[in-house]
Amino acid sequence: MLLRRITEHVKAQNWTAVGLDFVIVVVGVFIGIQVSNWNETRVDRADEEIFLGRLHGDITRVEDSSSRVRTRRIALIDDLRSAVETVFTTQSPRDLTDAECFAIATSHYFNINVLGLPSLVELTNSGRVEIIRDKELSTALVDYQQRSDALAESVLIQTMQINNIVMLNPALLRIAPTFDAALGEFQTLASCDTAAIRQDQTFLNALAENLDAYDAYLRDGLLPWNQQLLEIHRLVDASLEITH
Ligand SMILES: [Zn+2]
Repeated sequence: MLLRRITEHVKAQNWTAVGLDFVIVVVGVFIGIQVSNWNETRVDRADEEIFLGRLHGDITRVEDSSSRVRTRRIALIDDLRSAVETVFTTQSPRDLTDAECFAIATSHYFNINVLGLPSLVELTNSGRVEIIRDKELSTALVDYQQRSDALAESVLIQTMQINNIVMLNPALLRIAPTFDAALGEFQTLASCDTAAIRQDQTFLNALAENLDAYDAYLRDGLLPWNQQLLEIHRLVDASLEITH
């Protein structure tokens, strides 16, 4: 319709009308592009909102499913360190406390349940990561994935190197299972013969190695992952204006 009109105006050499037609075409195209861009932005914003809501749910699930073990694993290092100091010291020797003995008995436990972030996997696979406007969050999410991989690798490496100390010499360290009704899980009750442990160099060597491995597991795996998990939660909360 417009093309026929322009052709007629050209034939009639009505240049003012041709100029006007040209302006109409340019303005029309411009408005079309603007509407399309506006529409795309509107869809991106809506999808970003949905994504952040789902991501928040995913992060909460990772926290909840690992919370108990995470806290226990991180807290263990203090008792393990003081247990090693206690059995290695020759000055004013004392017996290991129950907590220190328990730390020795469980110093080869590294496993932790780390759920994935399905919302992020889906967004990445669809090639739409750029809908996340908060660049600090998108960088933090990449960092989180790297730290999750590092944690899995650390668990694998340290598990291969660690000594299962409870099987080393049952006369030095005895364990028994006990059911904790409040937590709804089986736990380990440990009892240690501190004086005999001090005399057993094989046990002392294994314990020193375990402290070293546990320290590496926390430093290179669990703590950086835990810190980044809290960081992405903080950033998502800020984006969604959630306060806990
Ligand atoms: Zn939150």
